[in-house]
Amino acid sequence: MVDFSDTPEQAVWRAEVQAFVNENLPSELADDEFYSGTLGGLHRGPLGKERESLIKSWRSAILNRGWIAPAWPKAYGGAELTEMEQFILREVFTEMHAPIQSVHDVGSTILVHGSEEQKQKYLPPMVRGEINWAQGYSEPGSGSDLASIQTRATRDGDDFVINGQKIWTSGAKTADMIFALVRTDPEAPKHRGISYLLFEMNRPGISVQPLGQMTGATKFNEVFFEDVRVPVSAAVGEINRGWYVGATHLDFERSSIGSAVGFANRLHDLIDFLRLEAEAETGRSKLKREPIYRQQLADRSIETTVARQFSNRIITMQARGVIPNTEASEQKLFSSELHQRTSNTAMKALGQYGMLYDENDPRTPQRARWGTYYLATVSETIGAGTSEIQRNVIATRGLGLPRG
Ligand SMILES: Cc1cc2nc3c(=O)[nH]c(=O)nc-3n(C[C@H](O)[C@H](O)[C@H](O)COP(=O)(O)OP(=O)(O)OC[C@H]3O[C@@H](n4cnc5c(N)ncnc54)[C@H](O)[C@@H]3O)c2cc1C
Repeated sequence: MVDFSDTPEQAVWRAEVQAFVNENLPSELADDEFYSGTLGGLHRGPLGKERESLIKSWRSAILNRGWIAPAWPKAYGGAELTEMEQFILREVFTEMHAPIQSVHDVGSTILVHGSEEQKQKYLPPMVRGEINWAQGYSEPGSGSDLASIQTRATRDGDDFVINGQKIWTSGAKTADMIFALVRTDPEAPKHRGISYLLFEMNRPGISVQPLGQMTGATKFNEVFFEDVRVPVSAAVGEINRGWYVGATHLDFERSSIGSAVGFANRLHDLIDFLRLEAEAETGRSKLKREPIYRQQLADRSIETTVARQFSNRIITMQARGVIPNTEASEQKLFSSELHQRTSNTAMKALGQYGMLYDENDPRTPQRARWGTYYLATVSETIGAGTSEIQRNVIATRGLGLPRG
């Protein structure tokens, strides 16, 4: 049998992280709903001055330990933790409802493909939380078939001149920088004429148009480029080989290992809530009247354990220095679909109360989190590559099946 319990060294590390959280986390922040990043962009009120300053001091406590970018070299503000140490760190934070503060995956991509100058320029300020990034991949005609992008970057001396449009660009309205895939050689086969550029969002010729979402947020945007000049040195890796840099980024994005722990927590919170409701006989709980929900919750619990094993596999691969590829697609596919199933189960088990959206109304179960997840998780099987695309990756690259 595989034994997942801690080794003595891991147990010492776990205790150290727990002690850190106990010492530094203000009780007002022990609430993963707002700061874990999982609900980023949803319809929530402003933080308020007091909460903002608590978050700031919590962030600086983590920053001092290098835990904002735990995997990165210390020279760039990281902590050089092993993969297992990172996993335990994340696990403890999630279990203790400690807000996770992390760096954008683009930093890891710069670490793999960027020049020393780019690493020095971008990584330390990212760790300090000074750069917000937007991801400029999708275009109106290019989503799943990303290699068909049309945004052009034409060489003019030491500059590129960019013209075109991106869409679904999360956070572009507030971003300082963008990493974008652009076509630098229109004659080359489509995967080969692409470059991966980093540039400031305030350059002349860039305009941003927000798009509304059904959660009430306007996190998505269209981004237009009209004769935008960026230096050729903005390219990460070789010019015209940016497709492979972009693919590394997607592998980092899809292999996200933290979500399984967070979701397991939320499921267990839901189960506790439903159990208490059933015991209180308020009439709100459907668990006694309709046993089908008990069975569905049991299924979700089993599936959450499976999702955890996907994370364990990815962490083990990363610990061996391997970047997960089809495994990252498996993890992304399984977890995103599980999140939708779980939100669905929760909404049914909570009944009509689950639909209340005012988190301050005492009748609203679990501060409206499930209604929010129910809406938010719809997009999980689209962002970072749709479920169909993940299945294609698993079938062709993983199982060696022919392309259609
Ligand atoms: C929450 C969220 C955040 C996002 N953030 C960003 C961002 O910051 N930056 C960014 O650039 N983009 C972002 N996107 C866009 C996202 O990457 C695209 O929506 C996604 O890649 C799908 O592309 P599309 O919308 O053009 O759909 P299409 O590619 O047009 O797909 C439409 C449908 O056809 C199916 N399909 C397409 N091709 C195949 C195929 N070969 N085999 C089988 N089925 C296929 C798809 O699965 C889908 O069901 C975000 C999307 C979401 C939902």
